[in-house]
Amino acid sequence: MSMLFPSYSCDRCDFFCPADWFLIVPREYRTPDGSARVGCVTGWCHSCMRFEAIESLPSRAEMARLDGKIIDARRELHDVQTNEQVTNADRKASVKSLQWLERRRKDEEMRLHLLPSRSTGPRCLACGSYQVVEVRCNGAEAADEGDESGGDAIGFLHPGCGGNILSQWAGVRVAPRRETLEYDIDGTRIMPVANRAEGNDGRWWHRFFKQSR
Ligand SMILES: [Zn+2]
Ligand SMILES: [Zn+2]
Repeated sequence: MSMLFPSYSCDRCDFFCPADWFLIVPREYRTPDGSARVGCVTGWCHSCMRFEAIESLPSRAEMARLDGKIIDARRELHDVQTNEQVTNADRKASVKSLQWLERRRKDEEMRLHLLPSRSTGPRCLACGSYQVVEVRCNGAEAADEGDESGGDAIGFLHPGCGGNILSQWAGVRVAPRRETLEYDIDGTRIMPVANRAEGNDGRWWHRFFKQSR
């Protein structure tokens, strides 16, 4: 399966962060009281010095926003179900979008339940650093794949360089299944026992190892 992801480059230096699917890697908070999906957004990590998946902590405001969207989606579903002009495909799409929102709400509710005592800010999900800043990028709708211009400025200056960060969308092949990464409620990665023994679990583990020595 191929999906669109942004790559990032700088218009002043040779910095390049290839299109990556770090945002859709399955991640979960594991606690004795249960588990919940880790919410994440794209951000700049001052420790990794690249774009990475950054924790998106649960909030009452996000819950309220999702509640509003669910009310709208239910109304829309009611409209398409009572309108004979609407195709079956459109009805299915409305059902799916409502189900997706309800899942998101359930995730948010579970996160709020599991992380009530979390007092620290969002962390980099690759290295655990708090030195992170969320970076918003235009959606894939604005994508112009194969664009020779090098991409669009996203309004973020390359830290330590000052050049404009440009983003460009590209299709990336993603594996259908991937191991779920586990975190405690403070956002610290929980390493599987086998990987601890081997000391090798890809990028994240190596970074952690370097930093903790
Ligand atoms: Zn630069
Ligand atoms: Zn990091």
